Amino acid sequence: MERKTESLQGINIDTLKLDEAVEYAFENRGQVVTLNPEMVMSANKNKDFKNIIQNAQLVIPDGIGVKIGLKILGKKNIHRIAGIEFAYSMIKKFASEKLPVALIGAKQEVIETACNNLKKEFSGLNIVYSQNGYFTDKEKVKADLVNSGAKLVLVALGSPKQEEFIFEIKSHMPETLFIGVGGSFDVWAGLVRRAPEIWQKTGFEWLYRTLKEPSRFKRIFPVLPMFVLKVLKERIFGC
Ligand code: UDP
Repeated sequence: MERKTESLQGINIDTLKLDEAVEYAFENRGQVVTLNPEMVMSANKNKDFKNIIQNAQLVIPDGIGVKIGLKILGKKNIHRIAGIEFAYSMIKKFASEKLPVALIGAKQEVIETACNNLKKEFSGLNIVYSQNGYFTDKEKVKADLVNSGAKLVLVALGSPKQEEFIFEIKSHMPETLFIGVGGSFDVWAGLVRRAPEIWQKTGFEWLYRTLKEPSRFKRIFPVLPMFVLKVLKERIFGC
């Protein structure tokens, strides 16, 4: 299968459907970036981060804002793929193939509970390495991860930390698929609940999460209007 991408703010974004993206990632491995408007805006300011995204093997439009941005540019029929759903589908796939999986990130009790819950859900799931996200010896974590032989690695360190971590290690594990999964372990541990389906389907999951966790307000709100303005500028002036 070939990549099909559309450009937004100089970033190539894949336009596959969820099942196609799962198949592509399983076959090709490498780094998957789950992109949201905040990440697009920080890539605008940070060339190294932009380079990491541009060198990823798959960039999926996680935030509804990315889909809206592409729509503003006249690119229709873009499928939003929630990063957490994509990661969940990949775990299912790797569990069914009995391939080793690793999880890195979140607080110790969160990662423990998330691992236990996932093992209950997927009987074939073989978690060969798990590490909380508050480590000090990064080189040791990297060495242990390489030694684990994991073929799927989920990294939940928040952005851009998780993308940087993956970028640094992926060449040492060429047959492994890496996904930056943000707050997914908190959801799988039962600590945070996803928005009810109606909010997800109508594209308002971000609003639900912000209402539940008002501290996100400060993080998201200055960025979203700037993002829309930048994309409108791209639409009108082509840059
Ligand atoms: N995290 C971590 N180490 C850090 C910073 C964050 O393990 O140094 C974890 C944090 O506990 C949470 C996740 O990274 O589980 C990031 O969640 P956030 O809600 O920021 O991600 P988002 O989904 O918004 O990208």
